[in-house]
Parts: sequence; structure tokens; C-alpha cells
Amino acid sequence: MRFIIATHNGHKLKELKRILEPLGIDAVTDRDLGITLSEAEETGSTFAENAEIKATSGCRESGLPCIADDSGLVVDALGGEPGVYSARYAGEHGDDEANIVKLLTKLADIPEEKRTARFVCSICVVFPDGRKLTVEGKSEGRIGYEKRGEGGFGYDPVFMFGDRSFAELSAEEKDEVSHRGHALRALARELPKYIND
Ligand code: IMP
Repeated sequence: MRFIIATHNGHKLKELKRILEPLGIDAVTDRDLGITLSEAEETGSTFAENAEIKATSGCRESGLPCIADDSGLVVDALGGEPGVYSARYAGEHGDDEANIVKLLTKLADIPEEKRTARFVCSICVVFPDGRKLTVEGKSEGRIGYEKRGEGGFGYDPVFMFGDRSFAELSAEEKDEVSHRGHALRALARELPKYIND
């Protein structure tokens, strides 16, 4: 069975293919098919809504079951910010450094016990017959006071998981405990129910 993945992020593609191949799914991108999916506008107020918007549009445009994800950071002391705006918190999309500076500045007066936060990842699959599957993964931690570690991306250097930041974990360690790892494993558990009937 062929699925289209609505992302051009190489890291996400690799992770998704690793999960989908053992299920007998041939995961391709729009580029593999010689088409271009339009950039669906992420107008949802939750990660799940945004994942569904992207998967619905990708399925409609390709005629294939489509998988899309949306993820970000939720900080309790900031009422859930940056949330669905995680990638563009400081304005420009994907400016990790500026996003971290903004986050640490806003949390400057917040004491340790109130710096609780979580990463959330929603993955949605939309099938051409209209069926939908959404799974979610979370990873609980705290926002640190300064950047630590060289690995990962995005907010990893300031997301403290126990006494290490996500940027101090190896890729395998992060996969085991991350929001994306949890969501991908939930997808691997749930998807067979949708493709084997
Ligand atoms: P998207 O799901 O690619 O739209 O990612 C949204 C944003 O959330 C990213 O640009 C990062 O700022 C942040 N984010 C999502 N997952 C992670 C992660 O595993 N580590 C660090 N930042 C993340």
C-alpha cells in the first residue's frame, strides 16, 4: 500500500519510513511522484487540527492516503505558548536561536518549579475514503536557564528532561522518550487496524 508523506523534512521522513516499512507501506513524497503538494495553511488552534489540515489537503491533491504531523512546545507558565506558533515564535519561521532567546527572556523571572513544559507531536493519516486516524505523543520536562548540548534542533538545548537537555541526548535516547517517538510508536500500533480490513 502506498502512502504519501506531507513533509520535506529529511529527519521526519527517515523516521516515518522506518516505522511504516515493516507495516508493508511504501512511503513516498510528492517529489517522488513528480507532483507538488501545496503548502496547506496551518490555521488550526491545536497540533492535531494542523496535522489534519495538512493530511486532508495532501490526500485530496494526491489521491493517496496521506500522513502529516505537527509538533511544538507548550510552556505552562506562558499559558501554553509557543504552542502551534513554536516554529515562528520570534517572527521568522524556523529561527531557532531567536525563538530560544524570546522564550528564555519571557521566563526570566519564573522559578524552577513553575518552568514545566512539554513537547507535543500529533500525526494524522487521512484516507481517500474519508477515514482519519490521529495519534499524539508527549514528552514532559522543564525549560532550563541557558542552552545546553549540541545535538537535536529547535528548542532542544533548553528543554530539560531530568538533568540533561534534549540536545544532550543521543538520537536513540531522544527517540525513546520524545513526543515524536511516542507518537510514531502509537501510529505503528494503530495503523494496522486501518490497512488490514
Ligand atoms: P513542525 O512540527 O515541523 O512544524 O515543528 C514546529 C516547531 O516546534 C519546530 O520548528 C521547533 O521549533 C519545535 N519542535 C518540534 N519538535 C521539536 C523537537 O523535537 N525538539 C525541539 N524543538 C521541536
